[in-house]
Amino acid sequence: MTTYKPTNKKCPHCHDTFEFLEIMSHNTFSTTYWTDGRGYDALRGFNGMCKCPACSSFFWRKDAIAVKKEPYSDESFIKQRLAFINKMVHPKNQDETNSEDTYPAIQDITLPQMFDFLVSPALTSTEEEYYVRKMIWWSYNDYYRALYPHEEHYTQQEEGSPLVVLQEKNSENMKALLDLVELTSDEEILTKAELYRQLGQFDECLSLLTTCSDKYEVAKSIIYEQATNKNNYVQLLK
Ligand SMILES: [Zn+2]
Repeated sequence: MTTYKPTNKKCPHCHDTFEFLEIMSHNTFSTTYWTDGRGYDALRGFNGMCKCPACSSFFWRKDAIAVKKEPYSDESFIKQRLAFINKMVHPKNQDETNSEDTYPAIQDITLPQMFDFLVSPALTSTEEEYYVRKMIWWSYNDYYRALYPHEEHYTQQEEGSPLVVLQEKNSENMKALLDLVELTSDEEILTKAELYRQLGQFDECLSLLTTCSDKYEVAKSIIYEQATNKNNYVQLLK
């Protein structure tokens, strides 16, 4: 489980102040592990990418500017905590609960916004591109994780559902990610094999797996089995 605390920080572009949630503590008791390499927790952490509601710029969460504040008095601390709890419980009443002591909350971006982040000036290196593409892939697979293990729902997505709308963009992203993954470790071999499997390139997947050691035997055997069965959905490691 994860616990959070609100922290005020400024947008690095327009310097407007927002309230960010920071992770206070995290344990891995409820984390599940999947064939795409993601450790998934119902109350998971952040993807580290933000879009400023004031100036619409994309930026990395780590680049938000810290606001120096006087230590809280007991009264202002309680007032701020109550406003924050109220905001979590009644997100739609956010504007009404904002007092001069609190700032609008800023969330990390959603999957559709990640595609815009990818072509924004916030992206400055191949390492960052690799990270964003991997988050896109993982976030897309999150839809399947949420439905797992009811596979009948996978193929019954209505037109306009997030899965259908994003399917093509996700495939393009997986192909681009394939080109960015090197093959210098078993983790990278498994990542690449899993990308091939999810793209439906089962022969490439199976052939690549023969070059992988048995360090991650469970993941390797599940990916192998699913590729043999020509299944391309993300799978739980158990
Ligand atoms: Zn801004």
